[in-house]
Amino acid sequence: MNNNRLKWILWDLDDTLYAPIPGYIARKRILFVESYQQAVGGDMSFDQAELELKRKLVEADGLILKIFKNLGVNPRDVLQRMADIDRTTLFTKDTGLPVLFDELEACGLKHALITNNIRFTTRDILNLLGLSPERFEFEITMDDVRNIKPDPEPFQRFLELSGAQPEQCVMVGDVPASDCIPAKHLGMHTILVRKRPAVIPSEVDIYLDDIYGIPQALKEHGLV
Ligand SMILES: [Mg+2]
Repeated sequence: MNNNRLKWILWDLDDTLYAPIPGYIARKRILFVESYQQAVGGDMSFDQAELELKRKLVEADGLILKIFKNLGVNPRDVLQRMADIDRTTLFTKDTGLPVLFDELEACGLKHALITNNIRFTTRDILNLLGLSPERFEFEITMDDVRNIKPDPEPFQRFLELSGAQPEQCVMVGDVPASDCIPAKHLGMHTILVRKRPAVIPSEVDIYLDDIYGIPQALKEHGLV
């Protein structure tokens, strides 16, 4: 009997369950820049706001919502605007996802989602990807917590709801600062996917180019 066996796989949504979509990133960027222009006030041009936002993003470890929080803007208001983006032409169905989920379930894992999106956007994206929300035993969205990632609250909320021990969980995400570091500090295992940083933080246990190598990587590490 392997006592190190994982029971839960926790998924980030954006740029994790699907590869970054340039058209969607562009739409989100426009929305963030416009929100920033509004938050700062005055007559800052779009280009100037974009430049300033880019600079601040580096200082904020890539955590865009932190910038808005620091300006006194509720991140929820920004994310609420994102719900209005028409994603139908941007996303395509990924028939590999249900197969991957089956494969991980065959390894004894149950799925949960931990995303900073509001529930409406989360459901819209899952629907377009062709992955049923019912595949997740728990869906922790912005609507379920007071503080979003990188705050530990969404991870703690999952642990409370599921009764899982942190060492029985692996968190999969594309942003070290909001996905891997808080999860690791709670005692979870971590997988970083897709966007390889110049330096991989020590809080990342496994780095993979995409999510399809996860079952094999977990087997190789003796975790399933
Ligand atoms: Mg992400």
